[in-house]
Amino acid sequence: MIPVKGYAGAKVAVLGLGRSGLATARALTAGGATALLWDDSPEARAKAEADGFELTDLTRQTAFDDVAVLITSPGIPHLYPSPNKVISRALEAGVPVDNDIGLFFRSFATADWDDFETAPRVVCVTGSNGKSTTTALIHHILDVAGRPCQMAGNIGKGVLSIDPAQDGEVVVLELSSYQTDLARALTPDIAVFTNLSPDHLDRHNGMGGYFAAKRRLFAEGGPDRAVIGVDEVEGQFLANQMGMGPLDDRVIRISSGQKLDQFGWSVFARKGFLSEWRKGRQVASLDLRNVSGLPGAHNHQNACAAYAACRALGVAPKMIEGALHSFAGLPHRSQMVGERDGVRFVNDSKATNVDSAAKALQAFPAIRWIAGGMGKDGGIAALTLHLGAVVKAYLIGHSARDFALQLGDTPHEICETMAQAVARAAAEAVPGEVVLLAPAAASFDQYPNFEKRGEDFTQCVKTVLGD
Ligand code: ADP
Repeated sequence: MIPVKGYAGAKVAVLGLGRSGLATARALTAGGATALLWDDSPEARAKAEADGFELTDLTRQTAFDDVAVLITSPGIPHLYPSPNKVISRALEAGVPVDNDIGLFFRSFATADWDDFETAPRVVCVTGSNGKSTTTALIHHILDVAGRPCQMAGNIGKGVLSIDPAQDGEVVVLELSSYQTDLARALTPDIAVFTNLSPDHLDRHNGMGGYFAAKRRLFAEGGPDRAVIGVDEVEGQFLANQMGMGPLDDRVIRISSGQKLDQFGWSVFARKGFLSEWRKGRQVASLDLRNVSGLPGAHNHQNACAAYAACRALGVAPKMIEGALHSFAGLPHRSQMVGERDGVRFVNDSKATNVDSAAKALQAFPAIRWIAGGMGKDGGIAALTLHLGAVVKAYLIGHSARDFALQLGDTPHEICETMAQAVARAAAEAVPGEVVLLAPAAASFDQYPNFEKRGEDFTQCVKTVLGD
């Protein structure tokens, strides 16, 4: 745990008592603050009480008297579409609003660091897609390279639950736009921005607000090194804002598809090869085509981002290359879960929207595609341009019939259940094809979450393969 600094003897309100809220409460108490805890949900309050926490009703008129700061959880809106009532009350009382990320940055460094040979460093990863994969990959590479490292944030555990840093340690944090939007201290040593596409626009009041939230990771003096995906205009703009000019190597530009040979430092992937260039010269090149844990151009973008962050930390290209090959991938993101007679079975249950499903559909040459669930606005209309590799679709869930109508001439069959879809796809697949779950839909019609849907797919694959 990282005890919170700066609030000893003060009252700190905490709204939202999920995993990160309760971890924050413990870290505040360890730092000598009095944590006043509240959640709008009676179930969350009951659970906190059962865990031994005391509650304070933050909806009361006088709740914010003498309170130094309000710490909120990422799921709670503070501005758009409309502020949560407790947050409004804090704002009216002149109390600042922060989150666990802000507390982490003000608390992480300790006096012990004076005796360290190498000061600990923090790498933060943000972007619309690929954050978890990139974060886990950076952590994996550092681990293989024998560097002490921990991973937290939007992945695994809350930031205040990590252990105090060792000499030379690297902490890798995945940060969502909700988290970067609110943190009052945000000072990574290395900041990574993977890519940008519309998401969570209601919470940020549009694309401008969404980009502004992510950009905060690069503001206020900036990180020592910025790794920035320049495949969208926003990333390009950010990279240019961060550097003194194209040769400034504090910015490492990354791309999946573009040749970036005119910059101070760049890493890009084209046709399955990753290249690192410095000041107009190629300094390293790796073959990504047989890296089984990172299939497809989208994962090659993640590989570039992780490679660049690790190079900025001094890891050698050869070491990174070996680590890429031993990366198993994250569950439910382009995850290989079985193979028989040249047919691979891939679980991309996290592809809950058309953007991520489009990437998955471009990652393999011949696909038996399992899709459907709780479709989003527009269904799969936006995917019609990306169906070239689909041999046949097997449709499940609530949206099966709507998706079937949108598929037009692409062969398809309505299967309703996952078990039936996997069995049919496996029976019809020929060597070289991939049976891919990339639903382009939420899971809530048939499963509690995308993880359970991915687990069901994996189980059905095991049954079919007789494992
Ligand atoms: P995040 O943490 O940003 O949601 P994940 O690594 O969990 O990202 O991946 C989420 C979904 O997006 C998965 O379906 C995955 O296959 C897809 N994806 C992963 N990396 C990228 C990328 N660089 N660009 C677009 N889609 C991606």
